[in-house]
Amino acid sequence: MSTDPYRVLLAEILLQRTPAERVAEFYPSFLKEYPTVTHLASANVKELRKLLTPLGLQKRAQWLIELATRMVKEYGGHVPDRQDELTKLPGVGSYTANAILCFGFRRDVSIVDVNVARVLRRVFGLQGRRPPSRDEALLKLASDLVPRGSGPEYNEALLDFAALVCGPEPRCGECPLSRLCNFYKERVVEVI
Ligand code: SF4
Repeated sequence: MSTDPYRVLLAEILLQRTPAERVAEFYPSFLKEYPTVTHLASANVKELRKLLTPLGLQKRAQWLIELATRMVKEYGGHVPDRQDELTKLPGVGSYTANAILCFGFRRDVSIVDVNVARVLRRVFGLQGRRPPSRDEALLKLASDLVPRGSGPEYNEALLDFAALVCGPEPRCGECPLSRLCNFYKERVVEVI
């Protein structure tokens, strides 16, 4: 994963509601066309919309031009490094802001999407089905768990773990966390 804040921001915006495999194919040519914030700020909205058509979510074209323009005007062409500034940009919610802070600026912040929420709720036996961004207990736990100095590595590992091991159909039999996991313990008791 890139550690350049602009590249991280671009990737996160493109990944919104879009499968990662499609973004991975598309991303290199997009970056070649718009290698910096300044290039993106001067993009033509019709051309950008056309370029983004294969990915869907057409409002992204407008968001990208708007946020790049604001970064040029307000931040000297740089991606801001504070959550309150990032979340004022179009298309950037708290999840996207934290992903940019973590991978672009090496901050020890949590990144909680629905997949990470599923893992933490299972392991720690948390109740609740609210969207992660509105589950205060979950967000507090997730934030407390991030190891100091290793935020990017930890979050990348947790996202991979949520995708590869503790998915919708969890692979508990081969999971290194099974001894700690509430969900697993309860299922074992049910089976017995
Ligand atoms: S034991 Fe199962 S439910 Fe618990 S973390 Fe591992 S894969 Fe997920």
